Amino acid sequence: MSDLYCVFGNPVGHSKSPAIHSAFARQTGQDMRYEAKLAPLDGFAEAVHAFIQAGGRGGNVTVPFKEEACRLSTRLTPRAELAGAVNTLCFDGDEILGDNTDGAGLTRDLMVNLDCTLKGRRILLLGAGGAARGVLAPLLDAQPDALVVANRTSGKAHALAARFAAHGPVVGCAYPDLAGQSFDLVINATSASLSGELPPLHTGIFATGSLAYDMMYGKDDTPFMAFAAQHGAAQVADGLGMLIEQAAEAFFVWRGIRPDGAPVMAQLRGA
Ligand code: NDP
Repeated sequence: MSDLYCVFGNPVGHSKSPAIHSAFARQTGQDMRYEAKLAPLDGFAEAVHAFIQAGGRGGNVTVPFKEEACRLSTRLTPRAELAGAVNTLCFDGDEILGDNTDGAGLTRDLMVNLDCTLKGRRILLLGAGGAARGVLAPLLDAQPDALVVANRTSGKAHALAARFAAHGPVVGCAYPDLAGQSFDLVINATSASLSGELPPLHTGIFATGSLAYDMMYGKDDTPFMAFAAQHGAAQVADGLGMLIEQAAEAFFVWRGIRPDGAPVMAQLRGA
């Protein structure tokens, strides 16, 4: 019987993870099956245990269960512990190992796929929710000159900066504090694009040659991507590459083989 994996979420029907992991399995010749599992909002732990009973080897976790998955794990990788959130689970006997591959996925998409240098650059991270928390340590590991976290609720940005201060030069602020500043890389880790909104940015925020990156992805450019293109960003990207690269990292955690994200990216863009 094929090894069994899944993504837990609610909702989960829209998830691209089954298509991505099935493509990775074909590419690497791994005998595995991957499906989407709708977990009840009050029944995540039960859904995980039922999947383990059915022979499940591992799983991905998406909205809204990443923090609950962290609590459910019997052991955490250091990067999951830092993020306080889990997007990848490995089941081995009684052990539930929780990992977080979001940050690795983002930095690989930025540095390898988009050829963006992070070392010595000024980075602005918009948002202070789960996605922002998961990517802060890997961004700081890349040795930027400065990393500024801006958030609508500024207290959350300050708290996040304090939590990661030991990892590098990070400060938190409110949007009005960005006046007069510009950045080489601006990453939108807010959920504003989900409701067609734009964080309140001034028009000079994009430095010459800068990259504007929205973690959100879809058929069309997000309001953030359109704003960036209009106001001086040299390059604009959505988060599909991050999604595929975090999946590739999860696949590596489970199977010990790193699939190539490029053909899967071409396939999903084509679709
Ligand atoms: P959370 O709900 O944890 O955090 C949302 C953040 O967005 C908060 O900082 C919130 O600010 C801010 N926000 C919401 N609306 C607005 C607005 N109108 N203007 C300014 N700020 C706003 O969400 P996540 O961190 O989990 O996800 C954020 C985004 O990242 C989502 O679009 C998600 O789809 C995407 N994502 C993409 C991934 C990928 O692989 N490509 C992986 C993970 C996430 P406040 O604190 O003030 O409420």
